[in-house]
Amino acid sequence: LTIGAIRERAPGERRVALVPEAVTLLRRAGLDILIETGAGSGAWFTDADYTDAGATVVPPDELYARADAVLCVGPPDPESAQALRAGQTVIGLLEPLRHPGLVKELAEHGIRTVSLDLLPRTLSRAQSMDALTSQASVAGYKAALVAADAYDRFFPMLTTAAGTMRPAQVLVLGAGVAGLQAIATARRLGAVVTAYDVRPASRGEVESLGARFLDVQSPAAAEPGTGQGGYARELTEQEQRAQREALDTHIARSDIVITTAQVPGRKPPLLVTAAVVERMKPGSVVVDLAASELGGNVEGSEPDKTTVLDSGVTLIGAGRLPAAMATAASTAYARNLVALLRHLVRDGELVLDPADEITAALIGGAAQKGSASS
Ligand code: NAD
Repeated sequence: LTIGAIRERAPGERRVALVPEAVTLLRRAGLDILIETGAGSGAWFTDADYTDAGATVVPPDELYARADAVLCVGPPDPESAQALRAGQTVIGLLEPLRHPGLVKELAEHGIRTVSLDLLPRTLSRAQSMDALTSQASVAGYKAALVAADAYDRFFPMLTTAAGTMRPAQVLVLGAGVAGLQAIATARRLGAVVTAYDVRPASRGEVESLGARFLDVQSPAAAEPGTGQGGYARELTEQEQRAQREALDTHIARSDIVITTAQVPGRKPPLLVTAAVVERMKPGSVVVDLAASELGGNVEGSEPDKTTVLDSGVTLIGAGRLPAAMATAASTAYARNLVALLRHLVRDGELVLDPADEITAALIGGAAQKGSASS
């Protein structure tokens, strides 16, 4: 079985699907590994590193001609998608809920897709394959660092000969994987952290990190915010408005706000309006990790764009934070892929068995049900 990892082509994307240590593990499992020339350079892995690990470094046309399965991080760009051929399998974070057309088009050309974003994450035997979690951890960590970097004061309380500096007040909205990592990182830097999530179950996790869970008295809080698969459910327009009103005062007095709220396959909920950003103190920083082309948690944020508003607040639309820490993100992602391939490869063949719960979800069967009813 020959597996090929391609060079990512999305603007700003520096991650790579396989790192040299993963190549070593897959070679030991009897797989042949092709790496597209220069694929690892954005994450500081040279072609020689891959060759030393046992891979063959090849130009793209040779990779597409020889690989049985093609590994990628994000969805392949149109040119790469064109290069795929019938019978091949493409494995990556293909975002089928966001771009259903791509998976459909590939299927029409006889190309099988394995979308890591459809993994049933609560199954304990799937956890080592959970790329959404590994990448969200990187994003949450980096979000706290990006916020600290843009903030013109200290995060920790400092007692110096020149007097005492008060610690930064950080508010994290959305306490899933990324939010919890942002909380932990801001806490390590010494900030005083408060967090809020619509899922009541997140309270214990927030508090275990030494942060305060914000009790928001709103009609939204009266109904559990947890939907299918342990994820947040989408709030109604009225609930969202009530939630925003309840959060506004807390947002306005925070020095840093980091938002990470997502609902799978949906537009991210709007949690912070432009009007409340206007009420924040000059020098405050807002990082919107949910910023995407669909909109974000913060009104006016755009992915990969930092704006210093007239009010003196820095608004950071954080589009691709995992790509900004490409070595750690790629290493974790490659470990997820190794775990996935160990699950899918039997007797040297890639077996996509729809009777297997994990595989069924990854190839789209279970996901279609999930997205329709969530
Ligand atoms: P996500 O990226 O979909 O969302 C991030 C967070 O935003 C979630 O915690 C969600 O509850 C929150 N959110 C959504 N709408 C909100 C709103 N209107 N206001 C405030 N917060 C809002 O989620 P995720 O981080 O990928 O994980 C979501 C859930 O899945 C969590 O319960 C997480 O612990 C769970 N999970 C479980 C496993 C596992 O069991 N191994 C692995 C990964 C995630």
